[in-house]
Amino acid sequence: MAIYLIFCGTHGVTYTTDRGVFHCPSCGRQPYEKKRVRRFFSLFSIPLVPLGLLGEYVECSQCGDTYRPDVLDFDPEVAKREVEAEFQAGIKRTMVLMCLADGVIDDKEVAEIRRIYTEVAGKEIAESQVWDEIARAREDGRQLTEYLSSLVGVLNDRGKELIIRAAFLVAASDGDFQEPEQHLMVELGEALEVSSARLRSVLGSIAEA
Ligand SMILES: [Zn+2]
Repeated sequence: MAIYLIFCGTHGVTYTTDRGVFHCPSCGRQPYEKKRVRRFFSLFSIPLVPLGLLGEYVECSQCGDTYRPDVLDFDPEVAKREVEAEFQAGIKRTMVLMCLADGVIDDKEVAEIRRIYTEVAGKEIAESQVWDEIARAREDGRQLTEYLSSLVGVLNDRGKELIIRAAFLVAASDGDFQEPEQHLMVELGEALEVSSARLRSVLGSIAEA
C-alpha cells in the first residue's frame, strides 16, 4: 500500500489548444498560445486518466504573462481599462493574505508589500491599491492555500515562481527565515502544484541573489 501511494497521484497537465495574435496588455501586439490545464490521474508521473479541467489561460509568447481567456477580446482603443496579468493579481493577494494572517495589517506592512511588489512584478503599486486588495481579501474570506489552488489553472511556471518569490520575500522580511516560514513555503508550493525539487531551486536562487 505504501508503495502504491508513492507512485500514484494526480497532477495538472498543461497543453496548448490554440494559437494566434492578440493585444498583450503588458507588451502590445504579440503572438499568443491558449492553454488548458487538466488534472490527470498519473502512475509513475505518467498522466493516464484525464480528470477535471483546472482552467484555461492565454500566454503571451513575447513576455510570458498569462491572462484569463477574455483578454483575447481586449481592444486597447475601445477599453482604456488596465488588464492585470494573473501573476500580478496573485502576488498582491498572496502578500496581503500573508500579512493578514495575524488579523491586522499596519502601515509598515503596506509599505513592505509595495516594495516587494515593485521588486518582483517590476511595476509600482499605489498605497490605495494595496488597501483595496486588503478589503477584497477580507471580503473573499479564503485562506492563502485555498486561494493559490484556485490559480493553478491560470498560471504558467513563471507566474507561479514569481508568486513564490514574493511570498518568500514577505516571509523573510523580518530577517527571520526559520522552520515555520520554511513550512509555509512548502505549503504554498503544494497549493500551486510546484514540485518540491522546483521549489527548492527557486528558493535557492532567491537566497543566492
Ligand atoms: Zn506580452
